[in-house]
Amino acid sequence: MRRRFIAGNWKMFKDRQGAIELAIALRQSLADVKDVDIAVCPPAVFLSDVAQVLRGSNIGVGAQNVHWADEGPFTGELSPGMILTTGAQYAIIGHSERRQYFGETDEWVNRRLRKALERGLKPIVCVGESLSERDSGKTTEVVGRQTRKALDGVTSTEILNVTLAYEPVWAIGTGRTATPEQAREVHKFIRGLVAEIYGPDTAAALRILYGGSVKADNIKALMAEPELDGALVGGASLKADEFTRIVKYQS
Ligand code: PEP
Repeated sequence: MRRRFIAGNWKMFKDRQGAIELAIALRQSLADVKDVDIAVCPPAVFLSDVAQVLRGSNIGVGAQNVHWADEGPFTGELSPGMILTTGAQYAIIGHSERRQYFGETDEWVNRRLRKALERGLKPIVCVGESLSERDSGKTTEVVGRQTRKALDGVTSTEILNVTLAYEPVWAIGTGRTATPEQAREVHKFIRGLVAEIYGPDTAAALRILYGGSVKADNIKALMAEPELDGALVGGASLKADEFTRIVKYQS
């Protein structure tokens, strides 16, 4: 049985005070949650502040990106070691906003992932198709390519530390959520692909999150789908009350 994982992506929102206040509120409101892994991914500049607030709690902290080198002339980037020193443990890799606005390629996603794993960060790797790709029947082709390329060279031991997130681009920040059936179909496809590469036991253990306009009022229907092992939540993770209700949807 895969343990549920809910991660919040704060994107480029919050100032320092707001980030600290949100972390304090979540530490309190989620303290009684025992059966779900939880993480928040604030802007890089607040990682240390948020990690300090959440130290010793049941909430992990993640970066929204990670570079593939230990150091070097890569202006604006952060190495895995730098992220780890803030107290963070996770890193989102290949988010569609990075692919869409910053030219992130499948090759870069793969390099970031392999380095993150080598350095002991826990990666959350995002894949997903655009609306035109879905409408032209290319969903599995695109998601298949992104997944295979991301995992290229990742060993059968390393894959155990990877979380995948299926995030259809047309559902991110749009208020339009994939139906549980649409998500199930793609999650099953991804799991099948992972089974082909790593075998059925590894595929059965791998967590695949859904992301795309997840909110307190749709999380229950999505999580009723056994293929969905949790959620990567953007906009709705910026309010303590809403994110708490998402994590605690069962109660
Ligand atoms: C995300 O940022 O990964 C995301 C899914 O955003 P939203 O929940 O706002 O659609």
